[in-house]
Amino acid sequence: MSSVLEFENKCLKADAGKCSSIFIGGIEKFSVVDYPGKIAAVVFLKGCPWRCPFCYNTHLQKLDNETNFFWHEFKHFLEKRKGVLDAVVFSGGEPLMQKRIVEAIVEVKALGFEIGVHTGGFYPEILAETLPLVDWVGLDIKAPFESEHYKKAVGGVESLPKVLQSLDILLKSRINFETRTTCDPRLLTVEDIYCIAKALSARGVKKYNLQRYRQVEGDTTSDEACEIFFKDEKLIDFLEANFEVVEFRK
Ligand code: SF4
Repeated sequence: MSSVLEFENKCLKADAGKCSSIFIGGIEKFSVVDYPGKIAAVVFLKGCPWRCPFCYNTHLQKLDNETNFFWHEFKHFLEKRKGVLDAVVFSGGEPLMQKRIVEAIVEVKALGFEIGVHTGGFYPEILAETLPLVDWVGLDIKAPFESEHYKKAVGGVESLPKVLQSLDILLKSRINFETRTTCDPRLLTVEDIYCIAKALSARGVKKYNLQRYRQVEGDTTSDEACEIFFKDEKLIDFLEANFEVVEFRK
């Protein structure tokens, strides 16, 4: 973990010449599920400060330049998709970890695409810097707003104050955004989802989605345990009563 954070600090603090590229781990050329209501391309950026036990993108966690995907090629692809795609989503990993994220967004925005960002909220200052350029944000909420629980859900990194700061920034900005939680039964109970939902609703969040946890390699958690959140009718009613938009992504 420390090496990731050391690299992160270098990228955030060093001058641009030392971290002059965008490190891409993958590209989805056509998606209708990553930006609500829009046809989007998704660029998965490398690097993440967290190590969530339910992570499906472990190959994106390390921030390095070992990749077969290059920024100039992605931009070339986008130039050919003008009029076909509505938007480009910056996902990860944690896209706001990269030094050149603001410049990258500027370059894509200049091509005429709407901009979406998927983030865990660990970089509130970078989020605030990018927001004037961004049209939609998907903010992951990993656990109830209790410090130790949140830390456990993200693999041992103290994170809650930064996540709450990011949430406040989004609420104050009035940008279109959703919150969502991956329901990993090893980390969360139905009661925890109530806690999260109450805290979000009290702050004024309008959109909250539950995502089914897909068992990672080696995990023997049953499908039944993973689906319990989606079969609890009281919870479903509660969420539908407290948010304008709720989705259950099974
Ligand atoms: S924030 Fe996302 S990419 Fe990072 S460890 Fe967690 S699940 Fe994986």
